Amino acid sequence: MKKQKTLAGSAQFSGVALHTGVRATLKIVPAPENTGILFRRVDLPDKPVIPAAAQCVVDVQRGTTIAVSKTAIVYTVEHILSALHAWGITNCIVEMDGLEPPIADGSSMPYYNMIAEAGGAVEQQGEIRSFTPPHPIWIEGGNTRIAMFPDNERLTISCVTSFKDCPFDPQFFEYELDTESYITEIAPARTFVNFADLKQLLAMGLVKGGSLDAAAIIHNGAIICKEKLRFQNEIVRHKILDMIGDLKLTGMNLTGRIIAIRPGHPKNVELAKTLIELAEKQA
Ligand SMILES: [Zn+2]
Repeated sequence: MKKQKTLAGSAQFSGVALHTGVRATLKIVPAPENTGILFRRVDLPDKPVIPAAAQCVVDVQRGTTIAVSKTAIVYTVEHILSALHAWGITNCIVEMDGLEPPIADGSSMPYYNMIAEAGGAVEQQGEIRSFTPPHPIWIEGGNTRIAMFPDNERLTISCVTSFKDCPFDPQFFEYELDTESYITEIAPARTFVNFADLKQLLAMGLVKGGSLDAAAIIHNGAIICKEKLRFQNEIVRHKILDMIGDLKLTGMNLTGRIIAIRPGHPKNVELAKTLIELAEKQA
């Protein structure tokens, strides 16, 4: 059985939020056993708490959004959750002074590093529930196909993406989740956006905080970004980063072998909900 974990100390990070464009500060503080991962909106009256749970997901279009009421809402939780998942942290409070975390460079590297600077993860007394699906799972919808197979030892994600305008396409990567390799293989992979989608998002008044510091843009057979690509297959690695974040919404120590073709937040969250249902049946 795996032990629950929290952070050794507190960590703080500030930057511009992607959609609202305002400066945001995020602080992660350790929490006792059985707390789970909780977001807290410290800018709102009574500082409401929003659990990082699949049941609290209210939107999956531009990122994963969780809420417990109309105002107690947090956007784009997947990158911070991905870093927490990589560290194996099961209990902590993520304090936020607005509805979105800072986007940073569009990767999860700053979040991973802030946890490292806080001393990393420390074991607690209680055990975390480990779960692998008792039988294969198949999820599909739109362009997405996801299969998950039982494996009691490890969580492995094999992923394929395909974007018409992307110069290196299709992309493939296979990754077994582990705290050490995550920082070199997954955390640096940045968010990307299709130029056509970007125009639409801007028209909707979104991505006010977007810049080439925070994302790569796929346009006309090229990838536009400020620095050179961090990996030739950076896009598929970012898709795995997002999936690791969304699966943290199960609140369990998940193991299994996932094969994902063109995954995205809608089906990632559906997989998380399916796993929770299966675990509840088994309990
Ligand atoms: Zn992402």
